[in-house]
Amino acid sequence: MPAQSMEELVSLCKRRGFIFQGSEIYGGLQGFYDYGPLGVELKNNIKAAWWRSNVYERDDMEGLDASIIMHRMVLRHSGHEATFSDPMVDNKKNNKRYRLDHLVKDQKADVQARVAELMGVDPENFPALVAALNANPAQASQVLRDAGVRDSFSGEVGEWTEPKPFNMMFKTTIGPVADEDSYGYLRPETAQGIFTNFKNVVDSTSRRLPFGIAQIGKAFRNEITPRNFIFRVRELEQMEIEFFCVPGTDEAWHEHWLEKRLSWWEAQGVPRSKIEILDVPKEDLAHYSKRTYDLMYDYPTLGHEEIEGIANRSDYDLGSHTKNQAELGLVARVEENTDSVAKLTIPHPETNKPVVPFVIEPSAGVDRAMLAVLSEAFTKETLDNGNERIVLKLRPHLAPIKVAVIPLARNREEITSVAKAIKAELQGLGLGRVLYEDSGNIGKAYRRHDEVGTPYCVTVDFDTVGKGEDPALTDTVTVRDRDTLAQERVRISELASWIQAKLR
Ligand code: ATP
Repeated sequence: MPAQSMEELVSLCKRRGFIFQGSEIYGGLQGFYDYGPLGVELKNNIKAAWWRSNVYERDDMEGLDASIIMHRMVLRHSGHEATFSDPMVDNKKNNKRYRLDHLVKDQKADVQARVAELMGVDPENFPALVAALNANPAQASQVLRDAGVRDSFSGEVGEWTEPKPFNMMFKTTIGPVADEDSYGYLRPETAQGIFTNFKNVVDSTSRRLPFGIAQIGKAFRNEITPRNFIFRVRELEQMEIEFFCVPGTDEAWHEHWLEKRLSWWEAQGVPRSKIEILDVPKEDLAHYSKRTYDLMYDYPTLGHEEIEGIANRSDYDLGSHTKNQAELGLVARVEENTDSVAKLTIPHPETNKPVVPFVIEPSAGVDRAMLAVLSEAFTKETLDNGNERIVLKLRPHLAPIKVAVIPLARNREEITSVAKAIKAELQGLGLGRVLYEDSGNIGKAYRRHDEVGTPYCVTVDFDTVGKGEDPALTDTVTVRDRDTLAQERVRISELASWIQAKLR
């Protein structure tokens, strides 16, 4: 059974070294988390699985790693300067700030219904309610008070201000002069680095439509209320694809990517039955979107929340950058074909005329993926002897440690030298991390490796080195299976191929 509450996951993550609060020794920084020894392995494995499936296993994809700090013009003409904001309200009683939709969502059902009634909106249509509050700030302020909307910090009914947009982009100065023009933005999504490099990739790879560009990297959003552990953070990581296609084929490609992404999640142990597909209502679409499917995973404690958005961005971004480049006289390069000068276009595969392609964008959060993968793998079991164990039943390709090699006696050189040699041999297989584990207590080691999801523990004992009771066991080790708890004696000479076959 997957994790029942967020607390169970938070506690495991801290206890076993997956995730720590950022800047913890100075009291922590809200919305920032650090990934510990096991967290970094799990994160890398999730990203590698995504890259393998979306780049290596396809013939229509290229990779990219663009810079995080971007020219302010990019984010102006992408529309983010004007519209990448969330509505914010203040409680004048205690000066606490809230994201409007979060504030309303956190209210009891009767209060929420009263807000909807006073705004004249169907209480079942939450996006419409938020849109109405946004569109009528003076009325919204009054309605929040009249409906008795409570401050989640103080628990009291608040004295609410009018909602106003809060832009979530982090701005930073560039270089030693901090004048009006020497600033840039930390990208709020990795996508813009793909659009600005569209021409470079097309020219250097000779790609024709349809094809995609994939990128994994950090993005930054100054969330008004970061919360729910790593679900909503200010420094996040995204795995994004911009898939470029001929206008008119975009809707079919949108369905293709919806299917592909659901099957990818399934392969990571996150079943379709736990993901609801939300066809985002028109009034709730981002400024660039023609249509968006949000994949809503059923997180413990939180319920269904977005794990990935799959947007049809139409020709919005490439079109907007092309138009603004031209208006600013920023013609990027001069080529013989004047039709393609500075335009982010590509020849139509049939007519050869320049076309601004449509874009389908599957965009998944790495942090939210970690949370879902951990949640699905988390299992509490009662063993035959009545003891309870926590085990992370991670798919082997995601497990932070693939094999732990455990010498039964850590001070006996004849045993430790064999264990170290086995560790080195298994590490050489390139399966991922193999750990030499000499903490001394075999029971504790097994418990620890169950909790961090190590698929196999290999134990080297006195029998292995011919000093036990059964000479037939010389040159064999015990291999313990995380899920079945079965223990098998395997010959050292056959161990590498045994492990390889099991982990494949
Ligand atoms: P939300 O509505 O939850 O704020 P969003 O619609 O703004 O999310 P997108 O802009 O579609 O999110 O971003 C794509 C993906 O990036 C999301 O599906 C999510 O997995 C991830 N993501 C976005 N914002 C955050 C955040 N603050 N913390 C962690 N992951 C995030």
